[in-house]
Amino acid sequence: MSTAPPAQSSRASGHSDGQPWIYAPAPETVPVHIRPEYDLFIGGAFVPSKGGKRFATLNPSTEEPLSHIVEATASDVDRAVAAARKAFKSWSATKPTERAKYLFRIARRIQDKARELAVLETMDGGKPIKESRDVDVPLAAQHFFYHAGWCDKLKYAAPHLPDGDAPRPLGVCGQIIPWNFPLLMAAWKLAPALACGNTCVLKPAETTSLTALALAEILLEVDLPSGVVNIVTGGPNVGRALVEHGDVNKIAFTGSTEVGKKIAAACAGTAKRLTLELGGKSPNIIFGDAAIDQAIEGIVNGIWFNQGHVCCAGSRLLVEESVLGEVIEKLRHRMRMLRVGDPLDKNTDVGAINSAAQLATINRYIDLGVHEGARRETIESAPLPAKGYWCRPTFFTDVQPSHTIAREEIFGPVLAVMSFRTPEEALQRANNTPYGLSAGVWTDKGSKVFDIARRLRAGVVWCNTFNKFDAASPFGGYRESGFGREGGRHGLLAYLQH
Ligand code: NAD
Repeated sequence: MSTAPPAQSSRASGHSDGQPWIYAPAPETVPVHIRPEYDLFIGGAFVPSKGGKRFATLNPSTEEPLSHIVEATASDVDRAVAAARKAFKSWSATKPTERAKYLFRIARRIQDKARELAVLETMDGGKPIKESRDVDVPLAAQHFFYHAGWCDKLKYAAPHLPDGDAPRPLGVCGQIIPWNFPLLMAAWKLAPALACGNTCVLKPAETTSLTALALAEILLEVDLPSGVVNIVTGGPNVGRALVEHGDVNKIAFTGSTEVGKKIAAACAGTAKRLTLELGGKSPNIIFGDAAIDQAIEGIVNGIWFNQGHVCCAGSRLLVEESVLGEVIEKLRHRMRMLRVGDPLDKNTDVGAINSAAQLATINRYIDLGVHEGARRETIESAPLPAKGYWCRPTFFTDVQPSHTIAREEIFGPVLAVMSFRTPEEALQRANNTPYGLSAGVWTDKGSKVFDIARRLRAGVVWCNTFNKFDAASPFGGYRESGFGREGGRHGLLAYLQH
């Protein structure tokens, strides 16, 4: 079936209150091919499940089903692991330059199909088309390009090995990903694993499997040898079967800290290698000497990009007291300009929340924030589409570090604003979290950047910018944000025996 994206009638924006421009709707109209039903991708073909039930995957901006996918069974996971094991022998022995050709082909095919993939990602996940078009899909292609270049240079990734010892792949990798960047997370997982000569069983998140299945179609188009990548759909039980499988050599998990802890416990005492990319509650620190207008853009990008469904979102804003009033005033003004609504409209800044369950979680945190005494500010006037899951961008002032909204990951467009008086206090507040994924520092002084960044306990620190990613740059956290890195040379080491 060729599906043209539905044009939504009610635009949330287009409201004149506080907005400099009123845009006419600009819906993305490129048709995408969505099959009414998808099987599992095992051994180089789409194959029916053995006993698994189908469930609908919804468009969160319309609540309409897009397709029906399978809840894989333990025996399906078994078949996928067996296919990956069978393929491992020849894939790991394939000449590195040949492996690279496949990765280059995948990257180029993602580029060829970029528009359709962006529309599919937006329809399945709810994120604005300008984000899937300009961020998710290009970065996914970049990951395959980047790792294609590594295939025949792996000994430089592990230069500590004795001369003549080429680093060897691990074997079969079980890879479990979340719903916030579905295609990009699949690329982060598959590209380095394949470059190193491993084979994979990937499990996408249950609400956003369609771009992973579209990627399976690309793998068929580029003739990737059968069984090198297998994709099993479904929920937590499928992930659990993969984690507990006796013939998997490595688990790479991206998702919540709560599930990450369970996976760590399940892998403890086994020979499985493990990397965990988990949640965060990242501080974004604005010093009084920062370029405030630029910092405002960084704050907006830090918390309202992808509806705040970002593991490294700058969800705790720490502002030097001398500029707190100015920052809040400018943030309020900027927030009112955000257009919330149809994710397929090219003007939309904030799309749909990924699922009804996630919307309920976010609303629970918003109610808690009000209940615990913080002051809520949001866009009051913009009408929202009648159907779909929506949350207006929100920030809270009068927040105490002890408030739940200042401590727990909300994974929605909700910012907690706090203040500080000295750099020491900023650091103390920033590090006062069990997480350690990312942080932002905004200041005009280079010396302050180096001093503060060095003492922030976070895997990634952005200075005078936020949410910037590159395949060459390792990303990951520590403490309750997990361990292991993805991207760059460090990311390769997670897929090599060294
Ligand atoms: P989640 O932990 O609920 O689910 C993630 C994946 O794990 C899904 O595919 C799910 O089906 C599967 N799963 C659930 N229970 C499982 C179990 N017991 N065993 C094996 N697999 C299981 O997380 P989510 O709600 O999909 O994603 C949001 C979370 O992901 C947030 O906490 C976010 O911070 C985190 N995240 C982290 C990064 C990072 O790089 N650190 C990137 C993106 C998202």
